[in-house]
Amino acid sequence: MSTARRTAIRAGWIIAFDGESHRLLRDGVVVIEGDTIVHVGAAVTDPVDETIDARDRVLTPGLISTHAHLGSSPLDRSFVEDRGSPQFWYSGLFEFLPVRDGAQDLEGTLACIDFSMAELLRGGVTTVLDIGRQGDAVAERAERFGLRVYEGLTFRSGRWLTRDGRRVTWEWDEEAGREGLRRAAQFIEEHDGAHGDFVRAAIAPAQVDTCTGDLLRDAKRLADDARRPYTVHTSQSVVEFNEMLARHGKTPIAWLDDLGVLGPNTLLGHAIIIGGSSWTNYPAGDVQTMAEAGCSVAHAVWVFARRGILMESFALYRTAGITMALGTDTNPQSVIEAMRWTAVGSKVVERGTHATTAADVFDAATLGGAAALGRDDLGRVARGAKADLVLWKASSWGMTPLRDPVKNIVYNATAEDIDRVWVNGRLVVDGGRVLAADERAILAALQAAGERMWPRIAQHDWAGRDVDGLSPPTYPPWEGS
Ligand SMILES: [Zn+2]
Repeated sequence: MSTARRTAIRAGWIIAFDGESHRLLRDGVVVIEGDTIVHVGAAVTDPVDETIDARDRVLTPGLISTHAHLGSSPLDRSFVEDRGSPQFWYSGLFEFLPVRDGAQDLEGTLACIDFSMAELLRGGVTTVLDIGRQGDAVAERAERFGLRVYEGLTFRSGRWLTRDGRRVTWEWDEEAGREGLRRAAQFIEEHDGAHGDFVRAAIAPAQVDTCTGDLLRDAKRLADDARRPYTVHTSQSVVEFNEMLARHGKTPIAWLDDLGVLGPNTLLGHAIIIGGSSWTNYPAGDVQTMAEAGCSVAHAVWVFARRGILMESFALYRTAGITMALGTDTNPQSVIEAMRWTAVGSKVVERGTHATTAADVFDAATLGGAAALGRDDLGRVARGAKADLVLWKASSWGMTPLRDPVKNIVYNATAEDIDRVWVNGRLVVDGGRVLAADERAILAALQAAGERMWPRIAQHDWAGRDVDGLSPPTYPPWEGS
């Protein structure tokens, strides 16, 4: 017999899962026992140890980000926005990413991880797939903060760079890729399923254009054997798309399909610059290939939208049958924002308000993310699911007037409208505060990381530009007295 504590949450509005889709349950009760939801319904039947009265609040499943870089994205802030070279079709991958990576230090990376975990939790994210290089630090913090993490310790056989701002070249080190794959396997041994079940592994070869076909295939085998997600960045720039056409005579998606690495546990990061997109003007076919392979797409709308690039279109991918999930990628790491931008971006591309509704993006942020991770016990408020829950305020600036809570969340809410968050049955956000986070220390550490990084920018830029040269201040400094 179980001795775990039973907590009932009585809420005015519950987004509950009926086995097929989300539904709105008015004045219902959710009972948590240990890490699991054991009851969802109109009333409580069995006795409980505690009842939380949230009759004036909204209870939803926790949100899922299937694409994040916890250890670096916060340092995108105040640096990468509004800048990009038309030479690289406005992608920031070739001029900004290598510079930031080179100028950032380990202490800064750890500051970013702390910041990211707090930022995600206070924004209602309960599960994140991280792609990074600090697996041990992320695993330890996942349990401490109480964030469910799929850790993709990333590796690759080469890297891109530009020496002149005109062309991108690739430098290869295949042994480094092999060693990275070995370390990913070791991460599974050491961390998967450990840390209070807050940590699992994802297998994350970095990018389609920086990994050999053999490395991509061997990594897929590791993911299949471990029954874990397999994720790779692909179709994320026109430069990459054209390079893959030059190397293989086919699109990145078609090449991945040829390698045999597209499947139900494959989660493609981005897949935006594809055949059929106006950015490539190349024949369509990639959407159908992805749909037939049964793979998922981690759509990180903001990192592209801020450069003037949209998926064409989220509605098309979704109706084709691709499992659509959302990612946060850069900063802000907000799935609320990701839902809003995904819906609006799709409406703009489709030139109609019916394309990609609040339901479509809320599904992507919950059920879609869960499906992409191979989990039928996440992303839903249902008996037997993990107790990953968000309690939203109802009487708040983003949630009033309350008639349709999901529309308010998708189109109006911010992290300020979140009251409590539970992950794996543990209360991790209370009154909007991340319980494990020392907010002032986290903000101070990130500020210090930026102040160490910005002066080093010039050493890593191909043209030797300093931070103001590469990313001019929004307004010039005040002159005079
Ligand atoms: Zn990424």
